[in-house]
Amino acid sequence: MHVRTPLIASQALSARLNKPVWLKLENVQPSGSFKLRGIGHACKMHHARGAKGFVSSSGGNAGLAVAYAGRKLGLPVTVVVPETTSEKAKHLIRLEAATVLVHGASWQQAHAHALSLSSPELPLIHPFDDPLLWDGHASMVTEMLDDQHMPELLVCSVGGGGLLSGLAQGLDQHKLHNCELLAIETEGAASFHAALKEGHPVDIGSVNTLATSLGARQVCQASVDWARRRTIHSRLISDEQAIRACQAFLADHRFAVEPACGAALSAVYEPSPEVMAASSVTVIVCGGVSVLS
Ligand SMILES: *Cc1c(COP(=O)(O)O)cnc(C)c1O
Repeated sequence: MHVRTPLIASQALSARLNKPVWLKLENVQPSGSFKLRGIGHACKMHHARGAKGFVSSSGGNAGLAVAYAGRKLGLPVTVVVPETTSEKAKHLIRLEAATVLVHGASWQQAHAHALSLSSPELPLIHPFDDPLLWDGHASMVTEMLDDQHMPELLVCSVGGGGLLSGLAQGLDQHKLHNCELLAIETEGAASFHAALKEGHPVDIGSVNTLATSLGARQVCQASVDWARRRTIHSRLISDEQAIRACQAFLADHRFAVEPACGAALSAVYEPSPEVMAASSVTVIVCGGVSVLS
């Protein structure tokens, strides 16, 4: 379902930081983001258990990954999106042969409708909070080891915490106990930061960021549980920093990625203390189709 992605040493970033900077290029996944790893795995497992189709409530990279996975498995997909979803996003989902249903003014309303359409035969594929997703995301770590790469500081962005949970699980599975994680969010979507402060997931009420894929109001419990078991640093950056990183990455590597991915890249373009202290850095270039133009 997903493809094995390249792990490259960034000469531009390594020269800037004076240490090896590695990039795991999830932006080349056929659905445009890392989401296909977890979602593809979840869809395959449901298919094996007799699912006749899938439902999603994401107008973003998760919905696109479900649409792609459904098309590959030959199963119909319905993606319920709120009225705020862009024409471009709906077009991309329809290109994957999925049905787009517009319902409600907010994601919460679209999600409630998607849930009402789902059944054991038509499971709703959650964008970040499902152990099947984390199993799929963990394959990024397996691929790094297959490439003889031992990450020391692994940088990723955080929306609902599915990516972070999958990476932590992968590091654990492979006994990489010394590898630290650096979790980046924009200030307007700091739900993981808030959860660490409170000691449990909290609803931050609203999100306000250009990094729309990081806009989960509450992170999954698993991400907070991992923070008890491993070293996970949490840092906040501005939308401007995320966008600057997207522009610098485009200039350095000729890839366009969305601000949610720029958030992770900003940790190396405008290095945080953890990045300064590490002897090498590995960034998950998570990708995303909501590229600003
Ligand atoms: C979903 C997504 C994220 C955040 O992942 P979570 O599992 O929600 O934390 C980051 N970047 C991109 C491009 C995404 O699609």
